[in-house]
Amino acid sequence: MSDLNQNMIEKYRNSFLKEVEANVEEGEWVKMCMQCGVCSGSCPLGKHWAHPPQEIFMMIRAGKREAVLASDAMWMCTSCYNCIVRCPREVPITHIMHGLAHYAKRLGLAPKGQPTMAFSQIFWDNMLKAGRVNELKLGLSLYFKDGFVQGVKNSLANAKLGQNMMKAKRMNAAEFFGGHGVKDVSGLQKMIKKAQELEDARIAKYGN
Ligand code: SF4
Ligand code: SF4
Repeated sequence: MSDLNQNMIEKYRNSFLKEVEANVEEGEWVKMCMQCGVCSGSCPLGKHWAHPPQEIFMMIRAGKREAVLASDAMWMCTSCYNCIVRCPREVPITHIMHGLAHYAKRLGLAPKGQPTMAFSQIFWDNMLKAGRVNELKLGLSLYFKDGFVQGVKNSLANAKLGQNMMKAKRMNAAEFFGGHGVKDVSGLQKMIKKAQELEDARIAKYGN
């Protein structure tokens, strides 16, 4: 268990709701949920998840910390905003779902190998290298993330898509050797590193 996770357990031993309110983006809205179920009924994907939004909010109030933070439900949210526009209490459901996913990742509790989380990390690492996304390397990193053999299978299965992207100039072979980047990559990387340090210091002091 990470030190951060252990610290949070000690600090909020008696209330997971309070922990969410203090550390999750818009988490203070969870208590406004009246469990009408409109969000879960409106979510185009919720019925395929272990816990649709209304259930996640009920579990938070019931103190089911491990089950919520280890759930992959928050990682499946596509930000379609169907739930937000229909919620009679105007709960910012989408933001809370993403906030919970972010918090679970910070604590090291997010489900290992969750595809959306893996994609987000690969996308971020790719973008950070040159300040712009290298589509070819992004595609290859995704296809080969589960090993060489699976990578070859994925590449063959998506060969047509790759060709079409090249035809449409969304991807080009030169990207393999670098591709386009921003003018001052190291300046951008320093700026992001500094922002991360400031964010970590703020969270350590005040929570989210
Ligand atoms: S629609 Fe709003 S009030 Fe109803 S269950 Fe969802 S979050 Fe709660
Ligand atoms: S924003 Fe996310 S939680 Fe809300 S309806 Fe869309 S997919 Fe479901």
